[in-house]
Amino acid sequence: MSVIVIGSGIGGLCAASLLSLSGEKPLVLEKETYVGGRATSFPVKGCLLDYGWHASYYSSGHVGGTVGEILQQLRQPVNLKKLDPPLSQYRQGVIESVVGFRHVPPELRPVLMKFAADIRKIPYEETYTYDDMTVLEWAREKTDDPVLLKHFNLSSYFAITAKADKASAGEYFRVLQIATSMCQGLGYPAAGGIRTIADSLVRGIESLKGQVITGAEVVEMDVDGERVSKVLYEKDGELQEIVPDTVIFNPPVYSILDYITEFPSEFSKRVKAMKGNHTGPSTQVYVCLTRPFVNIPSLVLLPEDADMWQPGEHCALFSPSTCSSEVAPPGNQLVLIAVPYTGRSAESHAVDLLKEAFPGAGPCIKWVHSFETPVVDGLAKHVGWVGRHKVPVSSPLENLYFVGDTVEGTGPGMELPADSAQRCVYQIQRGSS
Ligand SMILES: Cc1cc2nc3c(=O)[nH]c(=O)nc-3n(C[C@H](O)[C@H](O)[C@H](O)COP(=O)(O)OP(=O)(O)OC[C@H]3O[C@@H](n4cnc5c(N)ncnc54)[C@H](O)[C@@H]3O)c2cc1C
Repeated sequence: MSVIVIGSGIGGLCAASLLSLSGEKPLVLEKETYVGGRATSFPVKGCLLDYGWHASYYSSGHVGGTVGEILQQLRQPVNLKKLDPPLSQYRQGVIESVVGFRHVPPELRPVLMKFAADIRKIPYEETYTYDDMTVLEWAREKTDDPVLLKHFNLSSYFAITAKADKASAGEYFRVLQIATSMCQGLGYPAAGGIRTIADSLVRGIESLKGQVITGAEVVEMDVDGERVSKVLYEKDGELQEIVPDTVIFNPPVYSILDYITEFPSEFSKRVKAMKGNHTGPSTQVYVCLTRPFVNIPSLVLLPEDADMWQPGEHCALFSPSTCSSEVAPPGNQLVLIAVPYTGRSAESHAVDLLKEAFPGAGPCIKWVHSFETPVVDGLAKHVGWVGRHKVPVSSPLENLYFVGDTVEGTGPGMELPADSAQRCVYQIQRGSS
């Protein structure tokens, strides 16, 4: 069977890995010159920068969860250094842990623990009955305490990238149940940047005779009846053509309409509607310092609208150079600051924040580099977009499938595309048996 995987994000690579493990020889086409999609790292001025803040799920020293299981099966485990505390933030001149109950007043902690226990007790299948209710609506039935409601807002953002008034309670419960069962915390690659994970998946695929080609942009897909009959891609200025048995599409689902328009109108309408459902951009600004200033092993992070936790506060710092020695040259330190602005004002806000948090850091700034990281359209888990409403891994064309974080699947962060990849490969194999 000739399987073409379009895109080398975590979803595309996990699908290609699972197929390789079952004896197929998939071909992955990636338009960029590097793999990993959004979970990637770039060399910049002697440092290795991740595409924004990234940590992975930690399990006994390795990447955990579905991604970790696939890496283990490929015999390519990725060693992680545990982040402890897992997440911290800077506010009012103090760096403090975000995850855990430290920010919740002691008298409210037992209440919160009871809510968490209630969520864990909901049978997994029953969580779908909460899909059309928001996290906020569910939480309001339990409490009207503003601090606890803020906690739900923040944890909803961390879990599924949507605020509590937009996020589906069912999706939130599933993600929390999965995250609790699979992870012993967060970790960062002990060697290299976050792209180590994608690179290891590629090594595994190639060791099983699959192929990953970078700098290969798919430009057209032809449809013949109910099937994708041809995939055309450009590599080194030349157009190449493949006749595939199966195509797996990893970019955001709505972008399939740039290549194929011959879908039933109902499907096209649904996919088109995914575009525009985002929660707004934030900018992740790296500052390279000529000497270490941040004295914690993990990070200070903010969701793009951090003011949801504490009005007026917009800060997130991460010092990856203390996690993996390769990401910044010896003696230097990288600090990552996320701010809810774009353009040049983002960089100046980040630098101001750094100077406020670490007085004296100003003269040590070597350079500043920023990435704008919009939340991908269709990713935010709006009520009505989960469960039965979401785009499944299969499509109206019999040999076209979808994977990635805009597709049906469950899990926090990279786990979502990995889960979709598992569902996709299961469907393909069921169809061909
Ligand atoms: C700032 C930021 C921080 C995050 N932090 C975390 C975190 O800490 N932990 C966590 O687990 N997750 C985190 N995430 C989420 C995680 O990065 C994503 O969920 C995941 O990487 C998405 O993978 P994917 O496979 O869905 O798609 P993508 O990564 O988007 O992959 C799609 C791929 O398709 C390629 N492509 C597109 N068009 C074509 C074409 N025409 N031809 C060939 N190739 C094409 C793209 O170049 C890309 O490589 C974060 C995301 C962001 C943006």
